Amino acid sequence: MQGQMMDYQLTLTPLLERARRLFPKKEIVTKSGPGLERFTYEQMTERVARLANALDKLGVKRGDRVATFAWNNARHLELYFAVPCMGAVLHPLNLRLPADQLTYIIAHANDEILFIDPSLLPVVEKLAPLLKSVRHFVVMGDKVPEATTLSPVHAYEDLLSASSSNYPWPNLNENDAAAMCYTSGTTGNPKGVVYSHRSIYLHSLGLSMTDSFGLSERDVFMPVVPMFHVLAWGTPFATVMLGSKLVFPGPHLQPRDLAELIQAEKVTLTAGVPTLWLGLLSLLDKEYYDLTTLRGMIVGGAAAPQFMIEGFKQKHNVEVIHAWGMTEMSPLGTVSHLKSYQRDLPEAERFAIRAKQGMPVPGVEVRAIDESGKEIPWDGKAFGELQVRGPWIVSSYYNDERSAECFMDGWFRTGDVVTIDTEGFVQIVDRTKDLVKSGGEWISSQDLENAIMGHPKVLEAAVIAIPHPKWQERPLACVVPKPDYKETITKAEIFEHLRERFSKMYLPDDIVFIEAVPKTSVGKFDKKVLRVQYKDYQLPEM
Ligand code: AMP
Repeated sequence: MQGQMMDYQLTLTPLLERARRLFPKKEIVTKSGPGLERFTYEQMTERVARLANALDKLGVKRGDRVATFAWNNARHLELYFAVPCMGAVLHPLNLRLPADQLTYIIAHANDEILFIDPSLLPVVEKLAPLLKSVRHFVVMGDKVPEATTLSPVHAYEDLLSASSSNYPWPNLNENDAAAMCYTSGTTGNPKGVVYSHRSIYLHSLGLSMTDSFGLSERDVFMPVVPMFHVLAWGTPFATVMLGSKLVFPGPHLQPRDLAELIQAEKVTLTAGVPTLWLGLLSLLDKEYYDLTTLRGMIVGGAAAPQFMIEGFKQKHNVEVIHAWGMTEMSPLGTVSHLKSYQRDLPEAERFAIRAKQGMPVPGVEVRAIDESGKEIPWDGKAFGELQVRGPWIVSSYYNDERSAECFMDGWFRTGDVVTIDTEGFVQIVDRTKDLVKSGGEWISSQDLENAIMGHPKVLEAAVIAIPHPKWQERPLACVVPKPDYKETITKAEIFEHLRERFSKMYLPDDIVFIEAVPKTSVGKFDKKVLRVQYKDYQLPEM
């Protein structure tokens, strides 16, 4: 017997229409230089229709790729809806990638139209002769600077004002491609992930669940995570669906900019990688901002250190919502909320649980597989590679021979090594390549980093494996002191702090003080760079 419910296509168009009908007065605010630019949802949805008409005129057809090279702002949001709803494919480019990777990605995706933030024109002008697939460039502003070498080139606002505000949105199939992103931080060329209307629709519902991010119309949401990093973790789609007020920081990502914006626009929820929030926590020790409206801060992309979760809660009454995910997963996988009966545990235990990556959200299934191919028990001790499946998880990479090795019996292999405890909380031990393999044991570089960053004189720490004649590999800790302690910090006090938490074999063999931990294009610690820098480092005899 078949179910007798409508075969309703899960596409983004009705979500846009919902926003237009129900929330015309809600605001979209962008920080642009010293000022703030404001649009209402009514203006936004009208501009989205004009943009779709303009794209038609530029010859964009169903399935064509339209790329963006832009910061988080309102025009970028308009592209997020105009492109997929007209049946084309939105492709936000990571603007921190080196030139060779950008040209590879643009050619691989066959991007035909490229929208560019005016401040980023010089980067694209240098690349332009290599971008054979691009037919039109569009500057996301009022005018095209006279001196630009790009051609043919248009001004965003000219395109909009010359186009009608009525667009006959086509009926799309829910499995049509809506957007694509390339993975970052992998070895070799980045891999393309193509999201469908259906996957984004379901993922938007996933983000809105109370037990995940609990997004709602009442939220004033500020995505700090770049719109090119897994579509700002899918949050623009979910928040427009719900009618939340949106606050975009543009290129202004310093802790002081963010604190001012939260205060001025009464932000209730924000999202980004831990390095950003470590900076903000440090600033708040010195300067006062009224952050009383802020209910939460979604932290993911890299592990949220426990001291940071504690610091925000205890000093500023802000909940860190710790989440784990991947480009291949749209990205939501797990979220670390306490279960009701865990709320009675002592405070330290509660924070330790929330520093884990959390439980899989409804819609995502997890398992972990050991080296012999067997599923590990959920005992919080056994290690294995995390594998996932669900409706918003990649089923293959875009035109890429490397797809096959990334799947096992219909599950996606994440490459993250984890434990899963008896309550079902996943804890990332490390990326496979970041584990320090010492003798027969595995040392988690992530555990050490989090403990070192919990020291009051430390700003950042990255732990890498150094080849060792006897043990195969041993850990070296690269530590960035807080500016006030640069002169006074000692290795001895860091070791003292670690000895309270780790047995001897898990301690780093040495500590070096550095100016800054190199960062990847999405703001995570880039340990590849440190590994190259310290490849011949002589560890002291232990
Ligand atoms: P990306 O595709 O750039 O978002 O990177 C995904 C990878 O980031 C994951 O496979 C993890 O290794 C790492 N990651 C994401 N979130 C977390 C987290 N909360 N804790 C630890 N690692 C994380």
